[in-house]
Amino acid sequence: MDNKYEIIIIGGGPAGLTAGIYAARAKLSTLLIEKMMVGGQIATADLVENFPGFPKGINGMELTELMHEQAKKFGLKSVMAEVTGLDVTGEFKTVKTTEGDFSGRAVIIAGGSLRSKLGAPGEETYAGRGVSYCATCDGAFFKDKTVAVVGGGNVAISEAIHLTSFASKVIVIHRRNQLRADRILQEKALADPKIEIRWEAVVTEIKGKDFVNTLRLRNVKTGHESELPVDGVFISVGLKPETEYLKGVLRLDNAGYIITTERMETEMPGIFAAGDIRKDSGRQAICAAGDGATAAIFAEKFLREE
Ligand SMILES: Cc1cc2nc3c(=O)[nH]c(=O)nc-3n(C[C@H](O)[C@H](O)[C@H](O)COP(=O)(O)OP(=O)(O)OC[C@H]3O[C@@H](n4cnc5c(N)ncnc54)[C@H](O)[C@@H]3O)c2cc1C
Repeated sequence: MDNKYEIIIIGGGPAGLTAGIYAARAKLSTLLIEKMMVGGQIATADLVENFPGFPKGINGMELTELMHEQAKKFGLKSVMAEVTGLDVTGEFKTVKTTEGDFSGRAVIIAGGSLRSKLGAPGEETYAGRGVSYCATCDGAFFKDKTVAVVGGGNVAISEAIHLTSFASKVIVIHRRNQLRADRILQEKALADPKIEIRWEAVVTEIKGKDFVNTLRLRNVKTGHESELPVDGVFISVGLKPETEYLKGVLRLDNAGYIITTERMETEMPGIFAAGDIRKDSGRQAICAAGDGATAAIFAEKFLREE
């Protein structure tokens, strides 16, 4: 496989794949580096109802497979590897990966974000044994069981609704007295007889034997502690950008998101960022796709003018 490209894209979610469609269609030699299966977070969404062009909605995995197919048609190359470092100086920037180094005249960073951990005792012990971070991946293991979802945002509530297809009861544990999710999702969840919401509660411990069997809860107003028997717990308490390897290389905000201009440029010439990984992203698939297109357009302009 070649290791010199005009554009290297890090991450194969909607941002990276759209950047790939634009860059490859502009006839630039383009490599996409993805550490897992191409698709990103949206590939775990059961039904995406707000991506334009799909009035009946579309499965997240299917959506990203179509994006990938479209990019490959224009000549996008991909490799499965984890990016571990980036040298942003010189005409060719070096992208260090678990499969060796690749050089690109421009780099688009589209590594998205990962689920934050809850930080409660027992979370690590029972990870994969009742503690999950992905309802689409693990929901089917909880047929006719009682599960909890921790969180109150769009992802948490979408996952709670998804879990009602398997579980007999879904208990949403939310630390505030109202949900943050979009109204349409809130209405669906609140109307669902299988979903119960424990307001103003936090999980202080995850307990079990071989598998999770109990959550210890604390009411944030009264301090009252209680125990909730469950068979599983899905954690959806926020996101963390995948920028560990960029610390000291690029300007990041306090939460670790990459700071860009409206053209998706970072402060380093030829290095762009797109999608959930950048500060002020809309954290939606269509926003990530838009960012990816913008990044590729201005990366092409950068290469032409260089
Ligand atoms: C369950 C769920 C449901 C959702 N539902 C919707 C919805 O209905 N509508 C909507 O618009 N949005 C939805 N979202 C949000 C949407 O998925 C994200 O906004 C979008 O996927 C962000 O795209 P991205 O390309 O920026 O990043 P991601 O999708 O996070 O993709 C980044 C990719 O980069 C890879 N990567 C990261 N670091 C490295 C590295 N160092 N080396 C190599 N590869 C790396 C990751 O493996 C990943 O595949 C949902 C998210 C979830 C989790």
